[in-house]
Amino acid sequence: MDRIRPPRPELEYLVPYDAKDIKAEVMLAANEHPANLPGEIVEKISGWLRELRFNRYPDPMASRLRELIAEANGLEPHNVLIGNGGDELIFELLLAWGGPGRTLLDCPPTFAMYGIDAQVSGTELVRIPRGPEFEVDAEAVLARLAEGDIDVVMISQPNNPTGNLTPETVLIDILNVTDALVLVDEAYFEFSRQTMRPHMERHPNLVILRTFSKAFSLAGLRVGYVLGHEDVIRELTKVRQPYSVDSFAQWVAASVFRDRVVFQQAIRDIMRGRDTLMHGLSAIGGIEVFPSEANFVLFRVEHAAALWRDLLHNYSVLVRDFSRSAGLDDCLRVTVGSDEENDRFLSAVEDIMSHRRASEILSGTEAHVRHGTAGELGY
Ligand code: PMP
Repeated sequence: MDRIRPPRPELEYLVPYDAKDIKAEVMLAANEHPANLPGEIVEKISGWLRELRFNRYPDPMASRLRELIAEANGLEPHNVLIGNGGDELIFELLLAWGGPGRTLLDCPPTFAMYGIDAQVSGTELVRIPRGPEFEVDAEAVLARLAEGDIDVVMISQPNNPTGNLTPETVLIDILNVTDALVLVDEAYFEFSRQTMRPHMERHPNLVILRTFSKAFSLAGLRVGYVLGHEDVIRELTKVRQPYSVDSFAQWVAASVFRDRVVFQQAIRDIMRGRDTLMHGLSAIGGIEVFPSEANFVLFRVEHAAALWRDLLHNYSVLVRDFSRSAGLDDCLRVTVGSDEENDRFLSAVEDIMSHRRASEILSGTEAHVRHGTAGELGY
């Protein structure tokens, strides 16, 4: 044969998720932890490596890690499922509760994987856009849920990429009005310190997602988990790949989780760094900064795509460009880095913005800019 039979027709309009493997000296684009694992944990891991049975399949349910997470959350192991990163668990939720003829509700702008996984799994997507401050439109969501045909709801809490939290009362109203599976995605929980965990007993349809990728410096190993009712976890185990979390990742994640107190100082430093970024950006002028409860800050600036390019090419600082995403015109997102990285980012933005102001004055466009009539300024 000289041809390939076409894949599922739904794939025609899908483009592969572009994780943009761009390198820069200051990497602030992926909401990762600025530091590698603490040396004492790396030491322990190196010791074990010699004992690891690479020839054997991993424990399919990651029992040790599962027990540790259950215990820390006042739950039983059957309330916990470990996944190959939170991403895998989101996909499994849609394999089990979504699929052809079924519907996911989300509130954009939000984490892109909800929509992508809906498309891949053939789940219909109902989008209820957020308001001007990126708040969930509670009235519209509740009205839509009351129609009774939604199977899954996904809410990022705090929301990536906007950084804001949805009031707990709104989440409870949602849980009260629907029997749909409600995923409260707490990927940034360690920074927001807000959790829906206390509401699990009353709401068996509540599922909480967390990850080791952010606060625990483990984005490279791919470990996340969900907390949920045992009936939900049982269904998820039907659709998951049995060995998706490898032995090494299980070991390291268990060690990190056991020693998680070691990470507290760095988490506090990141929260302090977040304040530095928010204040620093606000002080520059011409930048709208959105309050954040996570380890990143979203901001809006004129000619954002040009600023993004300038940061990368002239200052080797990589942030995330959302300027062409729906509802995020002219928005960029910066991840909180180390103190040095935050300073380098802030002084680069300051530099670029002051050059902008200077060239506006020189070219006499300043007045036009203020009145919103200037076109491209060459950035
Ligand atoms: N949920 C949200 C809201 C996220 O931002 C991320 C990471 N970008 C994830 C889930 C998944 O994280 P991971 O797959 O690294 O565990």
